Amino acid sequence: MEALKTQFVPTWCAGCGNFGIFTALKKAFSLLALDPEQLALVTGIGCSSKISQYINSYRIETLHGRTLPVATGVKLANHQLTVIAEGGDGDGMGLGMGHFIHTARRNLDITYIIHNNQIYGLTKGQASPTSDLGTVTKFTPAPQGNVEQPINIVQMALQAGATWVARSTAADPQLADIMAQAVKHKGFSVLDILQPCVSFNHVNTYKWYQDRVYRLDTLPEYDPADHDKATSVASQWGDKIPIGVFYRTERRTFEDSLPQLANRTLVEQPLENISVSLLMDEMA
Ligand code: SF4
Repeated sequence: MEALKTQFVPTWCAGCGNFGIFTALKKAFSLLALDPEQLALVTGIGCSSKISQYINSYRIETLHGRTLPVATGVKLANHQLTVIAEGGDGDGMGLGMGHFIHTARRNLDITYIIHNNQIYGLTKGQASPTSDLGTVTKFTPAPQGNVEQPINIVQMALQAGATWVARSTAADPQLADIMAQAVKHKGFSVLDILQPCVSFNHVNTYKWYQDRVYRLDTLPEYDPADHDKATSVASQWGDKIPIGVFYRTERRTFEDSLPQLANRTLVEQPLENISVSLLMDEMA
């Protein structure tokens, strides 16, 4: 754990769910015995994306919504690295939605952790793409509140082709273990974490989630290999919210499909046979 420390301390609001996710993430890295030099953490913009400042690894805090294309570039440059992309529901499901779908269908070996607080926290409380219908904010006022249908991240990941899909909560004692499973999966793993924003979301609180979540492994004969079943259970939201691993399967990864990466990583390949002026001429 000591090796994962940086000089920075979290600036999140007291009680923010990001603290639980941060603690679990460090624990997961310890469980996996990950050397910081093997690890690249790519985050976007938002409260949750600050997490990369607090963990000693290769790190990029990139543009809003561009987490996954940057993570893709990192993975293709050095596919030996463990690459984790992380950000909020606004970053991933709003600005980054197109990237999410294409990363899932390509099945890069990247873990994508979404801190889903159902609100834009950093910009002080606008409805996000995962806000429930009727959510009242300063920008979606009463009486109707939010009138846009929310995105169900688990369902979206299943439909886009992610090969490992799970949901947890920021207060889940099993969160570190589930994160470690996500990182160990070879392929695109998506972990939707329900995360209270204590400053701007006064509906989806710790208690609100605690009263509703149940574990998938309590369902008789639930089989994470069954995509149809996963899709059906993932549609549950409201009085009952399932958490756990919905789906896992094996599929060839994008990087394993590229003959250029078969023998060594891109960063290990010699540059002497590449003529930059020839490339520039081709693109002119
Ligand atoms: Fe956490 Fe919300 Fe504060 Fe951001 S605004 S740090 S999400 S409690």
